[in-house]
Amino acid sequence: MSDKLPNIVVTGTPGVGKTSLAMLLADTLNEECKGLKQFTYLNLGKLIKDKKLYETWNEEYDVPEFDEDKIMDELEPMLNEGGYVVDFHSVYFIPDELINIVVLLRCDNTILYDRLFARGYSEKKIKENIECEIMEVTSDDVRENFQEHKIIELSNEQNEQMMSNIEQIIQFLKNSYQ
Ligand code: ADP
Ligand code: MN
Repeated sequence: MSDKLPNIVVTGTPGVGKTSLAMLLADTLNEECKGLKQFTYLNLGKLIKDKKLYETWNEEYDVPEFDEDKIMDELEPMLNEGGYVVDFHSVYFIPDELINIVVLLRCDNTILYDRLFARGYSEKKIKENIECEIMEVTSDDVRENFQEHKIIELSNEQNEQMMSNIEQIIQFLKNSYQ
């Protein structure tokens, strides 16, 4: 086994709880294995904005039309180091061989609606995102792009599920390294 820490992707439709869960996962992993190497939480959306890894800004939806090549130029050297917990809603452009496990979060539509509404999203943007969840857009992308044995799909609707999800992910990670 290599001495690199695994790379983890946390994905799903906006509002499913990627950021909450991915940050907690990185913290929990770092607490559990106080090794020399630590996991690093990476909010890819923030990196795209900060480093301007997009061609144009979509004013209608207030999101960047990101450039996959520019993203991978930044992301590949990081993933080669290992130990990243990557948080992003779209991951079809990340090569399978750079990723060890993929956490796909799911959420019921009505709960998702409330979360996106609370975030101040427009009706149009809420509708678009809910449709993505119904049409399983992220789920299909994940299954097309990553090997099945790397994928763990979890429901993330209630606060009580958060810790059990973290535990399941850590167990999944351990099992895939036996
Ligand atoms: P994402 O990064 O996928 O857009 P966030 O982590 O920002 O999602 O979460 C969206 C909202 O849902 C936040 O208000 C967050 O507190 C809430 N949330 C996330 N996970 C859960 C959960 N398991 N139970 C209840 N609320 C949650
Ligand atoms: Mn987020």
